[in-house]
Amino acid sequence: MALLRKFHQLAEAQKALGEGGGDPFKVVVERVISPTEAVVNGRRTILAGTNNYLGLTFDPQCIEAALTAVREQGTGTTGSRMANGTFAGHMALERELADFFGRKSAVVFSTGYLANLGILSALTGPGDVILLDADCHASIYDGCRLSGAEVIRFRHNDVGDLDKRLRRLGDQTSKSLIIIEGIYSMLGDRAPVAEISALKREYGFYLLLDEAHSLGVLGKRGRGLAEEAGVEQRVDFIVGTFSKSLGGTGGFCVSNHPELELTRYISRPYIFTASPSPSVVASTRTALKILQERPDLRSRLWANAHRLYEQLQGIGLKLGPEVSPIVAARLSSKEEAIAFWMGLLECGVYVNLILPPAAPNGDSMLRCSVSGAHTTKQVDQICEAFSSVSGSVFTSREA
Ligand code: PMP
Repeated sequence: MALLRKFHQLAEAQKALGEGGGDPFKVVVERVISPTEAVVNGRRTILAGTNNYLGLTFDPQCIEAALTAVREQGTGTTGSRMANGTFAGHMALERELADFFGRKSAVVFSTGYLANLGILSALTGPGDVILLDADCHASIYDGCRLSGAEVIRFRHNDVGDLDKRLRRLGDQTSKSLIIIEGIYSMLGDRAPVAEISALKREYGFYLLLDEAHSLGVLGKRGRGLAEEAGVEQRVDFIVGTFSKSLGGTGGFCVSNHPELELTRYISRPYIFTASPSPSVVASTRTALKILQERPDLRSRLWANAHRLYEQLQGIGLKLGPEVSPIVAARLSSKEEAIAFWMGLLECGVYVNLILPPAAPNGDSMLRCSVSGAHTTKQVDQICEAFSSVSGSVFTSREA
């Protein structure tokens, strides 16, 4: 009985959510219409929380590539990368990723989550030190745990705090790995990568940058924040995912360090799980090509990001610190966030509801992510829904 007791509290919390008019964590996308629309709760709904930054999930070339691969290679690899699960497609994708980033090698994982687990647990272990930004994604925290390294958190985007902690480490900094993200997944702000990477000269640490939300989004060629900031050479390892701008599933790490190739022999999240299926590898390879050939997708994404951010700011919502395809509105309580989120859904707009402890600083938030595939009209409809729901939610707060 004691074993399952901890679920009582969770069951109560889940029941309370349901009593509010439906459990927000049980949304079912009943029918997908396009990268930006679906039927949810029987209603045609604009999707504004998908990370489908370039809208490639319905790209005809990606679909064709996936269909050909599934016909020719079957539905799955039924094996791990280290056993029977490395197909020619995985090797080709790794070469193409390495070339795209201008690095010597790339390793592909089955998800972005596993990429962080796999790389962090292989690069670091007991006796090493990881310094990570406090707002890093759960996969980074979990990777740290799996590694067994000492973990030190520094305040989000606070270079002074990082510097102080590095100084305290003394000569241990040479066996330290610093982890930051290109665009942070919750507030949509960028890491100060130029300032942080400049500290390498003094302290001699290694730097890992997770470009999950910035691949295809930042940089002239879409390589991410390091490219935008002009500091790619100072970043030792870049991790990313196929599940956002590339519209698939899977993850990767690229690097010039020859040791990256050796991680294949020790990384448990690489070795002990099935490799990405041929259709996903094929659509991802095609999406990576399109990402390079179609900078207009990125320009449309940014035009939409500006439009959404500026209009939501105009309504008076408390947003993240800078314009980005992730636009997060902070609400004053969990109850207000849930009511707002449900109101938006009733208006035919889906955004991500983020409740503590998922959001930074224990905030409750509505997290939007725009796509280059949203039309201007859809962005305006999202903003109109926010405006109309904010009227009723904030009025009830004041009443
Ligand atoms: N890293 C970051 C920064 C993320 O935001 C995410 C997913 N939201 C991941 C890694 C994990 O990627 P995936 O969902 O493809 O496993």
